Amino acid sequence: MRSAADGYLFRPTSVDEIRAILLLAKETGRQITLRGAGRSYGDANIGSETLVVDIGRMRRILSWDPSTGHIDCEGGVTIEGLWRHTIEDGYWPPVVSGTMYPTLAGALAMNIHGKNNFRVGTLGEQVVDMDVLFPTGELRTLTPADDLFYCVISGAGLLGVIVRVKLKMKRIHSGDLRVLATAPRNWDEQFAEFERHEPNADYMVSWVDCFGRGTESGRGQFHAAWYMDDGHEFSSSFRPEHQDLPDTIMGLVPKSVVWRFLKILNNRWGMRFINWGKDFASKTIGNNKVHPQSLVGFSFLLDYVPNWRNAYLPGGFIQYQTFVPKEHAKEVFARQVAMQQEAGLESFLGVLKRHRPDKFLFSHAVDGYSLALDFKVTRENWSRLENLCHRMNDVVLAAGGRFYFAKDSTLRPSDVDAYLGGDTLSRYRRLKSELDPDALLTHNLAKRLGL
Ligand SMILES: Cc1cc2nc3c(=O)[nH]c(=O)nc-3n(C[C@H](O)[C@H](O)[C@H](O)COP(=O)(O)OP(=O)(O)OC[C@H]3O[C@@H](n4cnc5c(N)ncnc54)[C@H](O)[C@@H]3O)c2cc1C
Repeated sequence: MRSAADGYLFRPTSVDEIRAILLLAKETGRQITLRGAGRSYGDANIGSETLVVDIGRMRRILSWDPSTGHIDCEGGVTIEGLWRHTIEDGYWPPVVSGTMYPTLAGALAMNIHGKNNFRVGTLGEQVVDMDVLFPTGELRTLTPADDLFYCVISGAGLLGVIVRVKLKMKRIHSGDLRVLATAPRNWDEQFAEFERHEPNADYMVSWVDCFGRGTESGRGQFHAAWYMDDGHEFSSSFRPEHQDLPDTIMGLVPKSVVWRFLKILNNRWGMRFINWGKDFASKTIGNNKVHPQSLVGFSFLLDYVPNWRNAYLPGGFIQYQTFVPKEHAKEVFARQVAMQQEAGLESFLGVLKRHRPDKFLFSHAVDGYSLALDFKVTRENWSRLENLCHRMNDVVLAAGGRFYFAKDSTLRPSDVDAYLGGDTLSRYRRLKSELDPDALLTHNLAKRLGL
């Protein structure tokens, strides 16, 4: 979220309007960048001098069947739109990101994972069928029986336009989760917590204090969560009012001003202090506590603070998330954190998750763990930060790890060749020339990485 580009914005409301934009691009010799809610962290949803097709107005829910849990909707429906439409019938989106604002099409183009990735896989694995408009103007319905299904999903908006999706929603019996918090003191304890709860937890995630050093490197706060059963078919916790995030923090501070306080503390010393305070609270009052929490409250922590991204202005920030097989994850993440500390570029927020592999074309997942790191960007630190990320990439690649286009600002073409491999890239290039012969679909990430 430090990238910007000038393009020509279109906000179509129908498939025919998208077809007309494809034609216009051909006639004017321009390319097209697809854009959902713009929630990817890097440059995958911006395109310099391209026709930017924002599908946010295609947000109609076409049908909803509580007896099967299948919802059929246009690609611009957001994760928020999904849960608001279905929760009163006792359903929840099967996979959600840490924010509720992404569109279904944008989320499938990246094939997002949630805190339940180890248990249910990615969002793409929950799709029944979908309509894709290819740059040739052909509209096709794809199902999990089609090879192309596994390429358009995860294909980063480079093969076709996802215009309609039918998704399987998750049946729930309460709008709350049972959440356990513990306070691992180092990397060994972090991974032990994940292993302990993996057999039965529905969700797992852990915060890592990247300022922790020596024997406390890897300290943080681990959460496991389980679906609950209220024992009522129509639980009051299904009500949107129960789910809505409060307007104030701890009943006192209006949420709308919180980013201004964060901005004051948004420097190395301020964030060292905040991380220390969170760690202190976690190991004292928060350790080994179980509490109920609404699905929205647990899932979308960052949505609590409107405009939190402004706290990083003027330079913005990048998120750097790498996925490492379980045999090497501890050693790689400990090394990454030590490298940041040596460079004086500690991440202000570190988040650890457990994953399982999938068969999508540009898959980011492995049978292992990911560590997502938020780095503040300034004019002074950018080249050092980029260099740090490149050095951390080498450590990830040596361990057989992977990267994620939704979270990338620093990969080089050689990194992509190394983790995706020649076969995947040749397959992508064959599909690209067949489905998009005029190379209409692009974005700045694709250009940067030679895709
Ligand atoms: C606070 C926060 C927390 C997050 N947490 C997670 C998380 O837990 N897990 C996770 O996996 N991700 C997470 N993300 C990343 C986010 O979920 C993904 O980047 C998602 O793809 C964003 O969707 P979007 O609608 O904003 O799409 P955009 O970011 O606008 O676009 C994403 C990609 O989709 C393509 N695209 C857009 N529309 C279409 C279309 N109609 N057809 C085909 N391609 C299209 C674009 O070209 C682009 O390449 C998080 C992001 C934020 C800001």
